[in-house]
Amino acid sequence: MGSYWHPFADMAAVSASGPLVIASGDGAYVTDEAGRRYLDATAALWYCNVGHGRTALGAAAAAQMSSLAAYTTFGDYATRPTLELAERVAAIAPVPGSKVFLTSGGSDSVDSAIKLARRYWQVVGRPEKTVVLSRRHGYHGMHAGGTSLSGIPANRLGYGPLLADTAQVPWDSAEALAAVLDATGPDRVAAFFVEPVVGAGGVFPPPAGYLESVEKICRDRDVLLVCDEVITGYGRIGGFWFGATRFGLQPDIVTGAKGVTSGYAPLGTVLVAPRVAEPFWRAGTGMWRHGYTYSGHATACAVALANLDVIEQENLLAEAARLEGTLHTLLAPLADHDLVSEVRSGTGAMAAVQVDPAALALDPALPARVAAALRGHGVLTRVLATGGLQVSPSFVTTDDDVKLLAEAFGAALDDVAA
Ligand code: PLP
Repeated sequence: MGSYWHPFADMAAVSASGPLVIASGDGAYVTDEAGRRYLDATAALWYCNVGHGRTALGAAAAAQMSSLAAYTTFGDYATRPTLELAERVAAIAPVPGSKVFLTSGGSDSVDSAIKLARRYWQVVGRPEKTVVLSRRHGYHGMHAGGTSLSGIPANRLGYGPLLADTAQVPWDSAEALAAVLDATGPDRVAAFFVEPVVGAGGVFPPPAGYLESVEKICRDRDVLLVCDEVITGYGRIGGFWFGATRFGLQPDIVTGAKGVTSGYAPLGTVLVAPRVAEPFWRAGTGMWRHGYTYSGHATACAVALANLDVIEQENLLAEAARLEGTLHTLLAPLADHDLVSEVRSGTGAMAAVQVDPAALALDPALPARVAAALRGHGVLTRVLATGGLQVSPSFVTTDDDVKLLAEAFGAALDDVAA
């Protein structure tokens, strides 16, 4: 039995079967230690947007590490890649003039955003605004703040009291948000967190007009709108760098991670709109006592810059939009399978093949069995919170790859049904 404690894993089961050790990757595919090749249907955890095996990203890391791997950016310290990445990200941010705070990943970015939202209201003299709302099905990472915002109850339960002044609203109703805000008292609410497309909670694209309505509701009540774009950001939304831009939103804070480096190095971003940043940058406010050892890590930033180069040079935002269409078209027929209730897709290079809730009620292990059968057919996927199967391939996945993927899904569902 090994020593590695896998995240989000039943260690008794993993110990019994042993780990699946992924040894290498190229493009949309990975290969395990036994030499079996798989289509990576999830881009690992939604992150490997430029595909595996990019030597340019490895070279960028090696070059930076050979001169200066990292240096603190607390206080007035900086490294050149840190400053360059901040300018580069500010230039593509949904809100012009945004300031860029850097972290080690998505959970860091979310907890930074929660603290920043509450702190903002303190700094501008409204300390009673502390309530933070999020949506059912929402996933905002696993730090204390993000766990408190989780719209997936199983991720939130079992720890005793979490962050005070947090609550969830229905995922699909702007009216319900308005009602909760008005019942709570907008003068008590600091921020509303929203994923433009719910990701880990099951891939739920926003109902038409929903995001535009919640922006207006928040704006009218002086509540900060935080778009959690850890999945949707840096291209996965399709055709745009960010979901907020696709939907014409001007959020106060945008959290990101994953696609900013395509996972070649751990890095998170927090984009802060000018109106929220201004009081912190004003003379006399003093320091915001927040940051991480690896905030602005030079090697991670150098990798991010090389990754953004690849996305631009290979026009991968357009490729993500192409994939959105191909996934939507080619996965749709799976909804006719007896074990599938629906396929959620059509907004971004992401989809979920939902195992029928009635079948799921009879056999909760069904989605895991489908995922295991898919492995046998050479496709790696994973089970989401609703019992749906995740599809979020890298942007270099071809239409023929998606065809293979759809066929493998059909075959795996048949295997399990038989
Ligand atoms: N926010 C969203 C929307 C996410 O999907 C995730 C991770 O999947 C996170 C936050 C947390 O990011 P990380 O796992 O990098 O801490």
